[in-house]
Amino acid sequence: MNKQIQVTRSSMPPLEEYIEEIKSIWDSYWLTNMGTKHKQLEVKLSEYLNVPYISLFANGHLALENAIAAFNLEGEVITTPFTFASTTHAIVRNGLKPVFCDINPEDYTIDVDIIESLITENTCAIIPVHVFGNVCKVREIELIAEKYKLKVIYDAAHSFGVSYEGVGIGNYGDASMFSFHATKVFNTIEGGAVTFKDSFLKNKLDYIKNFGITGPETVKYVGGNAKMNEFQASMGLCNLRHIDEEINKRKLIVERYTSNLQGVKGIKLVRPQDGVNSNYSYFPVVFDGYEKTRDQVHKELKEHDIISRKYFYPLTNSFDCYVDKFNQGDTPVARYIGDRVLTLPLYADLDLVDVDRICEIIEG
Ligand SMILES: *Cc1c(COP(=O)(O)O)cnc(C)c1O
Repeated sequence: MNKQIQVTRSSMPPLEEYIEEIKSIWDSYWLTNMGTKHKQLEVKLSEYLNVPYISLFANGHLALENAIAAFNLEGEVITTPFTFASTTHAIVRNGLKPVFCDINPEDYTIDVDIIESLITENTCAIIPVHVFGNVCKVREIELIAEKYKLKVIYDAAHSFGVSYEGVGIGNYGDASMFSFHATKVFNTIEGGAVTFKDSFLKNKLDYIKNFGITGPETVKYVGGNAKMNEFQASMGLCNLRHIDEEINKRKLIVERYTSNLQGVKGIKLVRPQDGVNSNYSYFPVVFDGYEKTRDQVHKELKEHDIISRKYFYPLTNSFDCYVDKFNQGDTPVARYIGDRVLTLPLYADLDLVDVDRICEIIEG
């Protein structure tokens, strides 16, 4: 009897290491509101991600919502529907209108050849997604943004530790959001961050995540509460010590999947991108003309107690809450991929024997 294999498993430091890390919290009586652990993690993360500025958040979604809010945007935002609910919701919850751009069929990021045709006088920003850690065409997006004076905020939730042409991925655009959710490559249990170059944004984000309070008797912004606490930051400090090892282990698993499934007729894998240092965050497989459908493979794996995920299906522009507003027919490539994609189990300690077993079930 094989144990159940989840699609992912949270990375955790040795218990003793975490206990050691949180001991000083009992001396300080300081549990949240930008304490010592929070400050340490900000420094360590800005070094690791190689970014000038970072602001930590309670979770990735609030990081994105607040990043959008910080730019005082109005009007339409060009984005993609092949993503987690968070990306689209963050736009809508800021009172902005998402305009859905299709994805390209190679790496499932925004199709840069379509963006300009969607720009109107109301367009204020582009929010592309480095989906599965695949890097968007950042240079082309930068040129379009300059030409039309648009802000660019990347959803880099999947891209912790990814670099492009030697530059940390959080340096592109006006801001990037990272998620440190339990299921992500690097976690702080729940958590997230915004990275950016403009020092003005540092103050603003730090204030708006704490009710907009700028001094003992002054409140300058209509902020909310989105602060990361000291226990989350401690988890981050521990997990960061092991991150390179974690990513290396993921690499071996991805290489094993690739060698097993590459060249199988009707199975499409994402080709490694030029100039990109990957974090091996997901292993998406597209069943296109394969002898079994995506749903069949999903079901067969489940019968063997192996959990895969239809990620991303459904598209965000087909969600019930947006039924009268958007149409997935506007993004045919996203729809095509969403109907055929499956992400296979992937986490640092996944056994290579299990990787082989998963591939045998798929091919069996
Ligand atoms: C995980 C995720 C988020 C949200 O992050 P949380 O930390 O879970 O709030 C946003 N966008 C994408 C693409 C994600 O995968």
